[in-house]
Amino acid sequence: MEVFTGSFTQQEPIPEEGIAAALAVLRHGRLHRYNLAPGEAGETALLEEEFAALTGARCCLAVASGGYAMATALRALGVGQGDLVLSNAFTLAPVPGAIAAVGARAVFVGVTRNLTIDLDDLAARIGSSDAKVLLLSHMRGHICDMDALMALCDGAGVKVVEDCAHTMGADWNGTPSGRHGAIGCYSMQTYKHVNAGEGGFLVSDDAAAMARAVLLSGSYMLYDRHRAAPPPEAFEGLKYDTPNISGRMDNLRAAILRPQLPLLAARREGWNARYRRIESALSDLPGLALIARDPREGFVGSSFQFLLPDWTAEAVATLVGNCQMRGVELKWFGAAAPAGFTSTYRDWRYAGGQELPETDRILAGLIDMRLPLTFSPEDCDQIARILRDEIGRLWRRG
Ligand SMILES: *Cc1c(COP(=O)(O)O)cnc(C)c1O
Repeated sequence: MEVFTGSFTQQEPIPEEGIAAALAVLRHGRLHRYNLAPGEAGETALLEEEFAALTGARCCLAVASGGYAMATALRALGVGQGDLVLSNAFTLAPVPGAIAAVGARAVFVGVTRNLTIDLDDLAARIGSSDAKVLLLSHMRGHICDMDALMALCDGAGVKVVEDCAHTMGADWNGTPSGRHGAIGCYSMQTYKHVNAGEGGFLVSDDAAAMARAVLLSGSYMLYDRHRAAPPPEAFEGLKYDTPNISGRMDNLRAAILRPQLPLLAARREGWNARYRRIESALSDLPGLALIARDPREGFVGSSFQFLLPDWTAEAVATLVGNCQMRGVELKWFGAAAPAGFTSTYRDWRYAGGQELPETDRILAGLIDMRLPLTFSPEDCDQIARILRDEIGRLWRRG
């Protein structure tokens, strides 16, 4: 019986150019973003300028994490204590965490079998709550019909913050992910599409919201040292009324990140080649349902999902265990208790109280697998063979 020996959590090394830039920062010692030599722009300000250009946004702010970016985006739009925020029932814990961080309450919206937000359920919950903001998570890189979503939200006066932790470098119908709503948020944590260990971005064209975000992030009134912030006038009416909630990016991580931005397009190709290889190897397998992808969705296949519809919990648990023994690490969002990052809305008791039976039914059979760029095409073939073997065996028996 073949066993896969690769690591599902091993990312590529930092590019040599990033290592050299990081060493330069360490040698001069000016790690704080506002600690600049005369005439120096600083790695953080340059990173923001470059990410703004990449996404076509007027403003960009780099911060300490993706979770911090989302909480800051909500605060910058005026969300506070007791407010309701619509969000995905199927996402990762930092999303409801960001809502809780500003004292707001989540109103969870169900997931479709395409793993995108259920637009009918969203319309119903917009109608039945007075939530004025949607924190939309493009969970695992699955992008819903953004034209329909924006028409619905614009029509109802609901502002959209996009969680693009899994869609940096992706697009919907040619528009970069993160550029449909009022603010786009990204993560530069090790498991995302660029890697600084930790980090986050906000992008937006909204000058007032971004001036608030810069002040919130801990700018010590040094906002004129930014290169992708709104003009100084935008800060005038806000600077004495906006608290400093420090969560800045630093020059060391910015130095590591800058050379990775131009690699995003090639990384997308690399991820999608691996994704499509596994997808086609599993396409005719009874018992397994692939996730349909809309042709307008320019996704980045940095992870792979499939459904095991109508499988018993016992059979799914057996499959996950059997695959684990053969070196294939599957995550299951339908388990009774979360393992690592697989918690769902049912497990976020602080946000709790909602029942979403349709979503539960989908998550019961949802399997998730990381797809690092360190996997070769042959690795993908081997993983697909092991999956076929194990799924085939259990499906026939069941
Ligand atoms: C990683 C992630 C984030 C941001 O997480 P941080 O660890 O705070 O950078 C947000 N949303 C989703 C769906 C994520 O996976």
